[in-house]
Amino acid sequence: MLEVRGLEAFYGPAQALFGIDLDVRAGEMVVLQGLNGAGKSTLLKAIMGLEVRTRGQIRFDAGAGPHELAAWPTHRRARAGIGYVAEDRRLFSGLSVRENLRVAAGSQPEAREAWVLDRFPLLKPMLGRAAALMSGGEQQMLAIARTLMASPRLLLLDEPCEGISPLLIESIRDALLALRAEGLGLLVAEQNRQVEQAADRVVHLLAGTVQFPT
Ligand code: ATP
Repeated sequence: MLEVRGLEAFYGPAQALFGIDLDVRAGEMVVLQGLNGAGKSTLLKAIMGLEVRTRGQIRFDAGAGPHELAAWPTHRRARAGIGYVAEDRRLFSGLSVRENLRVAAGSQPEAREAWVLDRFPLLKPMLGRAAALMSGGEQQMLAIARTLMASPRLLLLDEPCEGISPLLIESIRDALLALRAEGLGLLVAEQNRQVEQAADRVVHLLAGTVQFPT
């Protein structure tokens, strides 16, 4: 579904990724690991077309034939079926849970909302609550749920479990596993052991290169 080859990324003149090769298949969860500064966030941004300039191939196939994304703007990558949840979540803090979901809705928002809430049942009793009044873990669930409203086939998640209570980490992990079982591809930058243990594959980055698997 996602095929990255020889990917380089640059912040201005500074190179942050050096020839990354990576695959994510449908129904697979790949976890990205590496020390702070290894390039995990940069790799997700490069795939999404955010902030960095890139060289190399980013091929994506959501079932309707392959696309080469490297020259596409971010919104076109999103429309092709890639969802991205940034580390800082970027919710509308003054809006309610339901409003946050509806902002991101495509066609048939009610049906989609019901589908998404079944994956994140803990959000159901808080639909009217302002996002600002939720815990970090609940906000993280909402950020993932909101991204799912646009029906992506591939999800890019930047440290979804960082700073979150163990109970909510379990429930986020279970939601990710349910999405994987439904055929979504997942690429998750994450240090948490519970998520790592559930991965189909772990890719270690070191100083902007793939350290393992070699
Ligand atoms: P973390 O867990 O700390 O987020 P990471 O593995 O996600 O680490 P990146 O944030 O991708 O690492 O950083 C990779 C490299 O790119 C680092 O050398 C970092 O200093 C550099 N970098 C990241 N963001 C920028 C930026 N906005 N401008 C310039 N350099 C950046």
